[in-house]
Amino acid sequence: MARYNGPVCRLCRREGEKLFLKGERCYTDKCAMERRPYAPGDHGQGRRRKLSEFGVQLREKQKVKRIYGVLESQFRKYFEKAEHQPSVTGEKFLQILESRLDNVVYRLGFATSRNEARQLVRHGHIQVNDRRVDIPSYQVEVGDKIEVKDSSKDMKRMEEITEFNEVQEVPSWLESDLNQLEGKMLGEPVREDIDLPIQEQLIVEFYSR
Ligand code: SF4
Repeated sequence: MARYNGPVCRLCRREGEKLFLKGERCYTDKCAMERRPYAPGDHGQGRRRKLSEFGVQLREKQKVKRIYGVLESQFRKYFEKAEHQPSVTGEKFLQILESRLDNVVYRLGFATSRNEARQLVRHGHIQVNDRRVDIPSYQVEVGDKIEVKDSSKDMKRMEEITEFNEVQEVPSWLESDLNQLEGKMLGEPVREDIDLPIQEQLIVEFYSR
């Protein structure tokens, strides 16, 4: 399936909650969910239909895919990988998503959204263990050092990003130095570290049908 290139705020409106896909704008009253908190389209303002059990599972899967910006094929592969691990499938699945390089860059505060983090990685601004990595899905491992490339640290945008993120909390499994624009993965993220309104069990049920 192709990547969605339409207006991202429609995705939040479709899911009925803020998915924080646009960085700074999501924290202002310009957020589309503040202004039009109903589904897009002609019938968006009508009463929401009651979803079947399958519908609830499907929507949860779609929501999480949108939060992390992952396509269906890759999302399913992550699930299959998690399923073959000895740990709890839903938790392992979220751990794999959280360990993606674009997510780690976002969590470290080097970007204001996962979309922006993905762009930074793709455009070659990020290094892992002193080597440039331009693959957003790259799996970061415990002990890895992640930093913005020296020549990119002076970009005007990096200054705006760090200013915005100064007040954002960095999860305990990461260590971040916003002045140096470098950080480290201290441990694997556990469920309590993932502060997102996700019911991963619904996704496990969806793929286990
Ligand atoms: Fe979603 Fe952010 Fe758009 Fe608000 S501004 S609707 S949170 S992407």
